[in-house]
Amino acid sequence: MYNPKSLKAEEFIDHEEVSESLKYAEENKDNLPLIDSIIEKAKKRKGLTHREASVLLACENEEKINELYDLAEQIKKDFYGNRIVMFAPLYLSNYCVNGCVYCPYHHHNCHITRKKLTQEEIVRETTALQDMGHKRLAIEAGEDPVNNPIEYIIESIKTIYSIKHKNGAIRRVNVNIAATTVENYRKLKEAGIGTYILFQETYHKESYERLHPTGPKHNYAYHTEAMDRAMEGGIDDVGLGVLFGLELYKYEFAALLMHAEHLEVVHGVGPHTISVPRIKHADDIDPSAFENGISDEIFAKLCALIRVSVPYTGMIISTRESQAVREKVIRLGVSQISGASRTSVGGYDEEIRPTETEQFDVSDQRTLDEVVRWLMEIHYIPSFCTACYRESRTGDRFMTLLKNRQILNCCHPNALMTLKEFLIDYASPETKKIGEELIARELEKISNEKVRAIATERIALINNGSRDFRF
Ligand code: SAM
Repeated sequence: MYNPKSLKAEEFIDHEEVSESLKYAEENKDNLPLIDSIIEKAKKRKGLTHREASVLLACENEEKINELYDLAEQIKKDFYGNRIVMFAPLYLSNYCVNGCVYCPYHHHNCHITRKKLTQEEIVRETTALQDMGHKRLAIEAGEDPVNNPIEYIIESIKTIYSIKHKNGAIRRVNVNIAATTVENYRKLKEAGIGTYILFQETYHKESYERLHPTGPKHNYAYHTEAMDRAMEGGIDDVGLGVLFGLELYKYEFAALLMHAEHLEVVHGVGPHTISVPRIKHADDIDPSAFENGISDEIFAKLCALIRVSVPYTGMIISTRESQAVREKVIRLGVSQISGASRTSVGGYDEEIRPTETEQFDVSDQRTLDEVVRWLMEIHYIPSFCTACYRESRTGDRFMTLLKNRQILNCCHPNALMTLKEFLIDYASPETKKIGEELIARELEKISNEKVRAIATERIALINNGSRDFRF
């Protein structure tokens, strides 16, 4: 029975409720008065329920869809301004005991090269990432209690944080590892992680079990209830995601929002981020073998709907998507993107770079400098900011600030200050020129005179060698 307050996966992601919501959405997809009322509600910027949002997803009326896109764009501007936070994934190990049928790291793949970084190699990888200008990482690892125990992950996080190379430092490590115990989540929290990210892959239990035939990940309830355990372990920023292509997107979308509603009602704070990966070609994985792949149009609609349904949740898009798709969905609500990513274990350091350990093919293969320049050319501010979590603005404190729009007073100047660091330390002359002009223009937009004066002063100090200021 559907119960968003329940801690049982099958009750907060109740199959009947998802099915009923999809039926309701289908029945009302041409009900224009209802659709108008849902759009009106969304305009209040307090979000939509999974049922309301499902009606908009089912709606095919072009005029209404355009209204939705306009609203998504406006909400994105209101809550996130024109900033885009940058990050890169760092693959630690592709040893894995699971049998996920869409992932080349699956246990039965005997020909993929298996690799686990040593701490020395992690130093080299982190140094290479710092040399590009990255300040925020998402570490990734397969699930393997023998090769990748929690102690290895913790030691790796400590190594990453310890490396201060030239003017660089990794200031925030997000973690994307398999579902684990409350005790292990507590250890991750103590190690100073930012967001704990775990993709649900699919919320459809039967499909989930079929797609994860072997290994600990087969357990649907354990995986789906992971975020509750993470929060019990003290991690208050969690990142959800669905791997689009595995199941029907309408099902996944309704269930994803139900998961967000569950976290909000039980823990008082919704997900910090939502990721929207689509299945990509990889070693022994052919995306066309999956029947539920979605078009770029549906993908954009999903992004716009996530933006209006959970305005306080950041949205992440990776280099799985091409430059063109990224450009489209950034406008509709994405707030964080990766740049210059390698999905192989040891992909950043020239000397370690292995062959054929990639998790999936990357569509956007540009350098970080190119991505930063492109963002500025299309009028966004690339931000390397990591201030919130370092100022303990996490979980409900972050959400309260965001809901009161207070976050704008710190995010905008923080973005400019961290961009300035990037320009001085890592950018090409052309990127630097565009960036300096952008900073000058954007500083003028800070309405609070005191904040503008402090930001201007700090940017001058950064020019003279100081680093790591934050509001
Ligand atoms: N092993 C961890 C787990 O079990 O959650 C997470 C790390 S995995 C390196 C990160 C994510 O990559 C997975 O959760 C999955 O959604 C995604 N992924 C796996 N295979 C993929 C593929 N072929 N194309 C696109 N994304 C894929």
